[in-house]
Amino acid sequence: MGSRPRIGVYICHCGTNIAATVDVEAVTEFAATLPGVVVARNYTYMCSEPGQALIKEDARTLGLNRVVVASCSPRMHEPTFRAASQEGGVNPYQFEMANIREQCSWVHHDRHEATEKAKALVYAAVMKAARLEPLEEREAPVTPGALVIGGGVAGMVAALDIADAGFPVHLVEASERLGGRVAELNRTFPDLEPVSAWLPALVDQVLRHPNITVHLNARATGVSGFVGNFEATVEGVEEPLKVGAIVIATGYNVFDPRLKPEFGYGVYPQVVTTLELEHRLASGDLTVNGKTPKDVVFIKCVGSRDKQLGRPYCSRVCCMISAKQAQLVRQALPDARVTVFYMDVRTFGKRGEEFYDEARRAGVRYRRGNVSEIYRRGDRVVVRVEDTLLGRTVEQEADLVVLAVGMEPRPEAADIAALLKLPRSADGFFLEAHPKLRPVDTAVDGVFLAGCCQGPKDIPDTVAQAKAAAASALIPLMRGVVPMEAATAIVDPELCAGCGMCVEICPYGAPALDPLWGVSRVNAVLCKGCGACAVTCPSKAIRLQHFTPDQILAQVEALVGW
Ligand code: SF4
Ligand code: SF4
Ligand code: SF4
Repeated sequence: MGSRPRIGVYICHCGTNIAATVDVEAVTEFAATLPGVVVARNYTYMCSEPGQALIKEDARTLGLNRVVVASCSPRMHEPTFRAASQEGGVNPYQFEMANIREQCSWVHHDRHEATEKAKALVYAAVMKAARLEPLEEREAPVTPGALVIGGGVAGMVAALDIADAGFPVHLVEASERLGGRVAELNRTFPDLEPVSAWLPALVDQVLRHPNITVHLNARATGVSGFVGNFEATVEGVEEPLKVGAIVIATGYNVFDPRLKPEFGYGVYPQVVTTLELEHRLASGDLTVNGKTPKDVVFIKCVGSRDKQLGRPYCSRVCCMISAKQAQLVRQALPDARVTVFYMDVRTFGKRGEEFYDEARRAGVRYRRGNVSEIYRRGDRVVVRVEDTLLGRTVEQEADLVVLAVGMEPRPEAADIAALLKLPRSADGFFLEAHPKLRPVDTAVDGVFLAGCCQGPKDIPDTVAQAKAAAASALIPLMRGVVPMEAATAIVDPELCAGCGMCVEICPYGAPALDPLWGVSRVNAVLCKGCGACAVTCPSKAIRLQHFTPDQILAQVEALVGW
């Protein structure tokens, strides 16, 4: 068990989040009676500076060698309290957290019962803390360079920022050119600026940058390693690329409207997508069957906000694209009647609402309704709509119908996810590590997300995210070292039977069978301490540091005996 435990216990009120349901004074008095506990206190917000100062001050003056904080889930503040313990001279791995908020005050109403449960959780945490051993944090060197997968606007911006900071960048693009989806656009909203005014310059900047190597018609086919030390195999590139960080910027696909056969896309020449209209606007030819359209209809949310199609999300750009194209059609065909059928108008973002107003002032008619069907009548088509304001079905003839198609994940995203073991959300886009606080990080350290591969967004948001991903990727590159998890798995070679089950189960590729001795060895740099191997091993040969059987059993016995 090491040194005789001198434990400090700190009970958090979390304002009223905990204190309204749990009698924190009673829990504190109880904690003070537990074996090894030298001091027990409670405080309004333990994660605040004064709260952390309590831990540091007690640790120094009372000679604490273990700290227990009973507060919220460890997800957010375990690093906070580990750091506070360390600053007070306590090994950060001799810190334990009891969750009396999410697992107690937030899920119980009876104050007496919640208080008893909080006592039990604190008791169990103290029993485990007494058995915690000091662990040493180590660092691994970082390969100074980055791999950016995807040569659209997001990938190019991220590559430029990393390269400008002085690091070599490999930019891998699957197609034969840089520019991504934006290269297919004519003008952008809300300024109607031609894409040609800035995209070629951006591409040129990337191609001429001395720190960027562009690989076109190339795909990453294998990635191994860990933050700071990745090795990527890329088609056409002979040697594996060694990099310290990876930015994923693989973009999006456009929804295929043939999946909504009731709209007649691919059947009626009058029905086109917003992307196709973009090309027509660029060429100046809006005729259909040789005739200039008199009635033009836009239909929004095609392939977005559609649960039946498995695409419940908003694609975020279709409202603005429709407003932009409707204005451009009005400019090109001043005599045409232009109608936009919408479920909702979501023109958020800077100058979005004003842009929508401009479209209406330019004579574009907005009509709320769900389009149920498009069918042919002579050389025109009829758009059948459930008008959701009038509560009745209306029909409108049109010469040109524009489907504002949504965004969806690229099919290759599944391959990249498998390659890097990246989780994706239910809609198929890559999943960020935390929606608010870590929006460009992934579950894999050193791998970052930029642009629409993470979810639909417009160009300014894409660029902002690409810059954030580049800045995050630069952190390990500029530090030159990365911290390694100390609470890792260790294999006892005397007990290991060499069955390989730990190799199979590990999501991070950390264990491997030693070809000479036929036993498993865990690469401590790759191991995340998830524990999957330890519970799988039939020989009980794996010990997970910081979660050893005696530590876990002490916790369980405390709870069972409560
Ligand atoms: Fe709330 Fe957790 Fe901070 Fe305490 S430590 S105030 S429980 S957020
Ligand atoms: Fe892999 Fe998890 Fe075992 Fe570490 S603890 S070797 S990450 S399964
Ligand atoms: Fe050895 Fe256990 Fe891994 Fe099997 S699961 S190889 S016995 S450590």
